[in-house]
Amino acid sequence: METILLLVHPEADGTLARPALEALTATQAVAASLTDGRYTVGLLGSGTDAAANQIASAGAAKLLAIADERLAQARYATDAAAAEALCRAAGATVVIAPATARFNRVLPGVSHRLGGRADTHVSQLEAADGALSVTRWLYRQRLRSRLTRAQRPWMLLVDPGCHPAWQGEAGSATAEPVALPAELVVRTEVTGMKAPAADAQTIRPDAGLLFVAGAGWTKKQADGQTHVPDAEQLILGFLKQTRASLGSSKSLVDLGGEGQAVLSFLTHLNQIGQTGATPRHPKGLSTCCHGEEPHTVGWRFITERRAINTDGNCGWARGKADVLYIADAFAVMAKVNELLAAQG
Ligand SMILES: Cc1cc2nc3c(=O)[nH]c(=O)nc-3n(C[C@H](O)[C@H](O)[C@H](O)COP(=O)(O)OP(=O)(O)OC[C@H]3O[C@@H](n4cnc5c(N)ncnc54)[C@H](O)[C@@H]3O)c2cc1C
Repeated sequence: METILLLVHPEADGTLARPALEALTATQAVAASLTDGRYTVGLLGSGTDAAANQIASAGAAKLLAIADERLAQARYATDAAAAEALCRAAGATVVIAPATARFNRVLPGVSHRLGGRADTHVSQLEAADGALSVTRWLYRQRLRSRLTRAQRPWMLLVDPGCHPAWQGEAGSATAEPVALPAELVVRTEVTGMKAPAADAQTIRPDAGLLFVAGAGWTKKQADGQTHVPDAEQLILGFLKQTRASLGSSKSLVDLGGEGQAVLSFLTHLNQIGQTGATPRHPKGLSTCCHGEEPHTVGWRFITERRAINTDGNCGWARGKADVLYIADAFAVMAKVNELLAAQG
């Protein structure tokens, strides 16, 4: 029988964030089929009490924790050593973890140290007839594959947004302490954090809506002129009122490198598509973007898609969008912002 370990780390405020709670839901479902519901949770961080209490009623058979000041900041050496120690202490054959930046970086290396295997970007876990299989997308989300593996431990990094987050009462839980290895050498010192101001952060993975800006916003309009400052104002006004996440086409973010007028708040991190991101949002609104395949492949996980384009023959019209408004996005977004402002 498998021994299942869920690995999680608290955030800076000491609590478990949504990706960890989603991985918990996935773990519970797999454990219900494979191990009569038995699973262990391994916590690692500078303090783990609040996180342990947060999931006290989740039904874990055991909680293991490494609470160590050296884990306050993500660092390969300490994170990998902590994850390895927790896996060994649990005797885990299957390790499930949220695909956070912190775990994505270390768990493949940890699986190597333990003689196991790791799979990243897992979107679904299934257990039938005592055998575990996982689903992940390949070739930029064009192919869906289902994998099984004989090697153990098998580490599975579960992509955020694929499972409902566990919801339950907080309580009081005591975790069994596990220590970092005494011989651990730390050579990297974290001296501080630099982050953009909260309102400069336009990529919001938890937003209900993805708003995509395409190169059309910077092109000559019906009057023969470009209107980039107006475009900036309309887009930022919409984002401010809706807290939508901002995506871009590749053409728009590339224009900056070519010396053309661009929207100052966009970077390549906003790019959606084959060579960009594939975010998960319930809804998406594309504006001034042609909807070509290398772009729309990044919309794979957007449930309801709408687009605004002056060209009725654009890519969105060819089965890529649920609704296409053949209209001037400048006029539509000005009206939308006006209506949003009137709503308060
Ligand atoms: C290997 C490869 C990888 C690629 N990867 C990506 C990727 O990851 N992401 C990506 O986005 N692209 C990618 N591309 C590029 C992609 O093929 C397109 O060139 C790009 O997406 C086009 O961007 P766009 O639609 O914003 O611009 P354009 O093609 O210039 O389209 C602008 C659109 O704006 C519309 N428009 C103009 N004014 C208005 C208005 N007032 N109101 C409404 N609509 C208006 C026009 O009708 C037009 O449809 C890739 C290409 C290759 C070859």
